[in-house]
Amino acid sequence: MNAFPALLAEIALIQDLRSAAALLDWDHQTYMPRNAAEDRASQLASLASVIHERETAPGYAKHLEAAEKEVADFPPDSLERCLVRVLKRNFEKESRVPASLVRELAETSANAHHAWAEARETSDFSLFAPFLERLLDLARRYAALFAPYRNICDPLLDNYEEGLTAQHLDPLFSGLQEKLVPLLRKIAASPQPDDSFLRENFDPAGQLRFSAEVLARMGYDFTRGRQDLSVHPFTASFGLNDVRITTRVQPDAPLSSLLSSVHEGGHALYELGIDKKLNRTPLANGASLGFHESQSRLWENLVARSLPFWECFFPRFREIFPGPLADADTAAVYRAINKVTPSLIRTEADEVTYNLHVMLRYEMEKELLNGTLSVKDAPDAWNRKSMEYLGIEPGKDSLGILQDIHWSMGSFGYFPTYALGTLLSAQIWQTAEKELGPLDADLRAGNFAPLLDFLRSRLHVHGAMFTPQETLRRVCGVTEIDPACFLGYLEKKYSALYGF
Ligand SMILES: [Zn+2]
Repeated sequence: MNAFPALLAEIALIQDLRSAAALLDWDHQTYMPRNAAEDRASQLASLASVIHERETAPGYAKHLEAAEKEVADFPPDSLERCLVRVLKRNFEKESRVPASLVRELAETSANAHHAWAEARETSDFSLFAPFLERLLDLARRYAALFAPYRNICDPLLDNYEEGLTAQHLDPLFSGLQEKLVPLLRKIAASPQPDDSFLRENFDPAGQLRFSAEVLARMGYDFTRGRQDLSVHPFTASFGLNDVRITTRVQPDAPLSSLLSSVHEGGHALYELGIDKKLNRTPLANGASLGFHESQSRLWENLVARSLPFWECFFPRFREIFPGPLADADTAAVYRAINKVTPSLIRTEADEVTYNLHVMLRYEMEKELLNGTLSVKDAPDAWNRKSMEYLGIEPGKDSLGILQDIHWSMGSFGYFPTYALGTLLSAQIWQTAEKELGPLDADLRAGNFAPLLDFLRSRLHVHGAMFTPQETLRRVCGVTEIDPACFLGYLEKKYSALYGF
């Protein structure tokens, strides 16, 4: 047996190149001087094409074939068999894509990122429009390589959530919408909590200190990660011993930076909990983006938006901000952090309206990719849909169509994973409580270890070894996402909060 070890060495090299590219991108979004954008775009494009060349080289295919034969008798859930499955799937996808398209995609999205940031800053969609046009065209050319499909979105969805199709997603989303809208109506008809005390001046340094303390308590290891500032919060992994997060801080929105820190912290805990044996392989990753998001949403919503969490952390929060919080108490913060109000920015949306933001962008993507909506008409379409889904209209594009980074990265088909993650987070939480008992007392004591141990042993440790469906079976004992779990959680929590 020698093909498999040789394959391992080759993919370790490829994985190192990926980590290097991720580090360049992290720098791009945090500290890089503005005028370095063009050079950085070519560096990232060069790395992307080197990676693509190695992954699709004829020698690599033979290697993979020989390694597959060598490990054919291994158990199906062994690292060897799982790795070969994932490598074969990746190879089959990658090898359909010509190197020229890979390069064009990387270069266009690097330049588009800069244009998007500027367009968002000045709320001028026209600066980003030509890039969006090119990125959509590239996405269509990419999808065409995987024809036939029922919907042009399918090959793109499959990149983020293996096996996901519009046919599967559309009824799930419309079912959710059917239940969310009446719940929103009931909430809107109830008296709203007062959250004005959270719009005072909260010193950014204090906010970062508080977030760091919460992250440390969650189990985020600052010797294997760090937190910095960026326009759009994200998590970046450069191997299993360096998983970094970013946030943004506004003086008059302290909970927004806390929640984004906890959210990204949830992503980072997932990666940091992956079995070290999987390091420098493509298995050193989440099972899917939906599962990745299930972890960030679980920490953000089920932990940091819970009453026991605030019973634990409010005293420290007030210690750091004695001025603005002089008259506040735990219950007031709990009510304020769970205030349900249709807002324009997805990342700051409450739990009830969050999925409506996701559905809005998914609908836009479907129409743009299928050519039933033009880029020129996209901002107006966004505003119309915003009215339809959320009942409000953004006054400017920076609060509407330009708010999220994803399209500038050419990431179409990504958004639905946010909603899937939210649904999964409730399902995983229910399973954890079934096995560990109610988690309230632990949360109140700031003891996150039992929860984290459960998540690690059941989910994190396996990395990307299994398909999303098999992963769900291993974590929750079922093979289908059950929206009833999330909807039941919302109903219970918000009827108590709003008194209906
Ligand atoms: Zn996330």
